[in-house]
Amino acid sequence: MNQPQVSDLQKGSWKIIWKLKVPEKVKHFLWKACTNSLPTKDNLLKRKILKESGCARCSGDSESVVHALWSCSCIQVVWETEFGWVDRSLMTLASFSEVLQKIRVKPSLLLLFAVTAWSIWYQRNKARLNENPLPIHNIADFSKNYLCEFRGVDSHHSHR
Ligand SMILES: [Zn+2]
Repeated sequence: MNQPQVSDLQKGSWKIIWKLKVPEKVKHFLWKACTNSLPTKDNLLKRKILKESGCARCSGDSESVVHALWSCSCIQVVWETEFGWVDRSLMTLASFSEVLQKIRVKPSLLLLFAVTAWSIWYQRNKARLNENPLPIHNIADFSKNYLCEFRGVDSHHSHR
């Protein structure tokens, strides 16, 4: 992972991420989110791959990493049950690293946070490709089950 210019905030995020007991693909995804290198619409617009960056879910704001994974009004249903305690005034945080810093005050929720953010992105990509995405209101449960299953596999040291 070559990141020539990594801020202190991002270094802090990496220290959190690398220790998480989640699948490698989820860690990799989180690192991309924290370094603003996911192919969100606003990033593709900057690279002139797209001509507009409006979020496909809410057709409102520009789709930044924070918007796509955290602050879009359409995905609040995913976060509200377990993460409703996070101050709503923080919805406009500038970077995903900042969101991660807020969540780390409750370490027991970090794994679920990681898997949920990954699920939101995974389903967002499926929606973009018309690949039968899960309904948004099922993503929270999907994430919990995914994490439970991963932990079960992990604790039994099985390989599959
Ligand atoms: Zn949106």
